[in-house]
Amino acid sequence: MSVFDSPSRRLRRECRTIQAMISVYCRDRHGTPRGLCPECSELSEYASSRLERCPFGAEKPTCVNCPIHCYQPARREQVRLVMRYAGPRMLWRHPILAIFHMMEGRRPSPPLSNRKARAAGGSPREAATEDPGGDL
Ligand code: SF4
Ligand SMILES: [Zn+2]
Repeated sequence: MSVFDSPSRRLRRECRTIQAMISVYCRDRHGTPRGLCPECSELSEYASSRLERCPFGAEKPTCVNCPIHCYQPARREQVRLVMRYAGPRMLWRHPILAIFHMMEGRRPSPPLSNRKARAAGGSPREAATEDPGGDL
């Protein structure tokens, strides 16, 4: 199931937010007048797939506050560059999404089991201290 079909309004909104940020970045930095260039298209698909598999589900924190960081290092760096550029511009171009994103950035990360953290492909780090039982 695509994250766009998720029953969670938050997940659908988060997906729209990252897509909007990548779009702002691609148009301004890569000169793409419409849609996304191949590089940004790949990044967009990757970010959507991470969201679909996010072990926090509908309770996910913003990725920047995540104790797992399931992104591959190169992808994480790409998204960091996108967010650094597009973040301040979102208020003008997508104000509603920007305001929700800022509000959600204040939410602390919920606890997560070690198993779920490993299944996400990230390092359990803080999750390990939050749930020593490691149960689902
Ligand atoms: S595990 Fe963390 S970094 Fe990965 S999608 Fe979920 S919140 Fe974002
Ligand atoms: Zn691009």
